[in-house]
Amino acid sequence: MANATVAQAVNRQTVALALRDARAKCAASHRWLNAVNRAALNLESCRWSFDGDTLRVESATNSGDFYTVTVETCPCSAGKAGKPCWHRAGVRLLCKAAEMGQEAPSIGVTYKGVYYSAASLDASEQARASRPTMEELQAAADELFA
Ligand SMILES: [Zn+2]
Repeated sequence: MANATVAQAVNRQTVALALRDARAKCAASHRWLNAVNRAALNLESCRWSFDGDTLRVESATNSGDFYTVTVETCPCSAGKAGKPCWHRAGVRLLCKAAEMGQEAPSIGVTYKGVYYSAASLDASEQARASRPTMEELQAAADELFA
């Protein structure tokens, strides 16, 4: 993923959405939920950079120390022990945010459990518009039987 695209895709809104998603998915895992919440907090206060795959983030406890983190690995003590850590939770959040930012902005409605995007509503609106009106049908029938 190109850096400029990532920078555009990762913003306050997509991170908030990713956070909501992550909290729902981590509801069953106390450790991951803690990691996600710490990530949300620490990404606000620690220095970091993200290229779409790898997060380079400052340690929250040893300022000036930086970790290079991926979704799978983190060199912090928890990460080395294979335990959930906020750094990995942070990468996941940013990856998800980037992914969400890549998706075309969609506006639509949900009706009876089915989501209709503005594009599909537009198409059905056009289909309706191309259908003849009752007046036109009446005129056609009048013409036929004139
Ligand atoms: Zn870590």
